[in-house]
Amino acid sequence: MPEARAGALATLRGVTSGTRYRCRGCGNLTRFDVVATRRTRAFHHYSVGGELEVEDETVLDEQVEAVECRWCGASGDAIETVVVGAEAG
Ligand SMILES: [Zn+2]
Repeated sequence: MPEARAGALATLRGVTSGTRYRCRGCGNLTRFDVVATRRTRAFHHYSVGGELEVEDETVLDEQVEAVECRWCGASGDAIETVVVGAEAG
């Protein structure tokens, strides 16, 4: 069902858009290499022919292990985590 898939995507977007990154080195806000471990729950729906469709994927836990700036290569303390909606204040 298209409705179910749209809902799953919205869930993933909601989780990942809660925070964003900012590089203190070069001011980059948009491009980062992120290494993360995700624990997810999803409905695996197989057709009779064995074709898999993953539906209703929910992120239960997410651990971001490393963030590296694509522009200048900075990582660790040089990368600041910004809560979306708080950067204006
Ligand atoms: Zn940078």
